[in-house]
Amino acid sequence: MATTKNNTLKLKFDSARKYAPALESKSAATIDARYDLFINGKFEKPQSKKYFSTINPATEEKLSEIADANAADVDKAVKAARAASDKYWKKMPASERGKYIFRIARMIQERARELAVIETLDGGKPIRESRDFDVPTAANHFFYYAGWTDKLAYAFPGKDPQPLGVAGQIIPWNFPLLMAAWKIAPALATGNTVVLKPAENTSLTALKLAEIIREADLPPGVVNIITGAGSTGAAIVNHPDINKIAFTGSTDVGKIIQRAIAGTNKKATLELGGKAANIIFDDAPIDQAVEGVINGIFFNQGHVCCAGSRLYVQESVYKEVVRKLKDRLETLIVGDPMDKNTDIGAINSKEQLNTINKYLKIGQKEGAEMYQANVEIPSKGFFCRPTIFTNVAQSNRIAQEEIFGPVLTIQTFRTDDEVIEKANNTPYGLSAGVWTDKGSKIFNLTTKLRAGVVWANTFNQFDPTSPFGGYKESGYGREGGLHGLAPYLNLG
Ligand code: NAP
Ligand code: MG
Repeated sequence: MATTKNNTLKLKFDSARKYAPALESKSAATIDARYDLFINGKFEKPQSKKYFSTINPATEEKLSEIADANAADVDKAVKAARAASDKYWKKMPASERGKYIFRIARMIQERARELAVIETLDGGKPIRESRDFDVPTAANHFFYYAGWTDKLAYAFPGKDPQPLGVAGQIIPWNFPLLMAAWKIAPALATGNTVVLKPAENTSLTALKLAEIIREADLPPGVVNIITGAGSTGAAIVNHPDINKIAFTGSTDVGKIIQRAIAGTNKKATLELGGKAANIIFDDAPIDQAVEGVINGIFFNQGHVCCAGSRLYVQESVYKEVVRKLKDRLETLIVGDPMDKNTDIGAINSKEQLNTINKYLKIGQKEGAEMYQANVEIPSKGFFCRPTIFTNVAQSNRIAQEEIFGPVLTIQTFRTDDEVIEKANNTPYGLSAGVWTDKGSKIFNLTTKLRAGVVWANTFNQFDPTSPFGGYKESGYGREGGLHGLAPYLNLG
């Protein structure tokens, strides 16, 4: 009987996975063979004379060559940004500045398809995700902050908000275009000029944004986009004529940056790592919660700082939740990110795949039980099966450290106090999720969980109007919403 049931289940899963391919066309995207640095409104060759390759992590094929900026290039970009601040941007009426930002938003919408395709080719995330989330949300950030440009006096009543000057901005590889938008839109709205560095693995959409900014006819030097690796980022951080550092990335690099700017006048916002708890109470709508957990950790390959990577389930519904999660895991489609059916695309780089695999070994060594979906993964490219660990102890490294991959740990709890203590027991505090039917429980937990964002009966929801940021080692400062304006302003 059990075998028949399993066979039926297997058949169901196999047919679920065999959708006809629905490939997005690459024709919408033009990728040049080589990209230079965007400084002072023009694309310029790097003084380093060096370039590095960017590849498609789903196929390991080279897509383009990207300029590697050195300290002299950074200096040139900072000088251009300073001159643009003094000559144009600070002096321009706020409503005029707003028009440029609106224009960028509209042009992102017009080129949405191209941007989504390039984001997926360069970074490995499913096209559905780039098309339906990354690109529209990036445009929305520019729309939202364009609206604030001439209303800063209302945002900060009784104050005289003034721009800081030149902002140095450094971003990671998991949401390349969206992170660029999170950084550039509020900086421009508040009258600052920008030197931005995308991550080495995913520079292409930031360079496309540079093209858009050039076409939008922003005064030269207001936005400079320079590419390179960690040393380029360090040169931005250490440049003496930068007024503010906005960084999103790992906690380790965040600490290096904090040390580098200590004792200077540079202001900083740091958005760092996370290890979010997703909490299911026994009165929660279980099917909805299971879907929320899947969405919270497996979509986008777990490459999300606020991913719900630790699941806490109330004991009485533990078995049911684990069974439903495993069933759902089997139906996830892992593979070509350009296929519109794909749920889980490519891991961003070989190094990141190695890190995830290292944690899979650590988890098993620590005595946790590993369950991986029985799905085929492509032989080329960097892919990882969605993975669940049960029998996890709170002190296990897989429950404490950020893995940044499609890996979920599951633990149980009995009482509210117990789960609050467990959820807060990590060095991070970026986000959390609560699934329950009771409003009182939601209020109790949201006030006690030390996390910058707590979602209730949903997960990974973003909106330009909501502030986002961390507690503890997840960083400080807020991005998004009205809160996201203040870190770019001198409020007197
Ligand atoms: P990362 O290694 O810290 O890199 C982030 C950026 O910093 C990249 O552009 C990187 O350049 C640059 N960088 C590296 N070393 C530097 C240095 N010494 N000085 C200045 N810049 C330097 O992080 P990642 O691996 O790209 O991204 C994953 C991490 O970002 C995760 O920990 C994740 O949680 C976090 N994240 C946080 C948020 C948030 O909002 N809190 C959002 C997204 C991601 P290269 O990559 O080119 O070397
Ligand atoms: Mg790439």
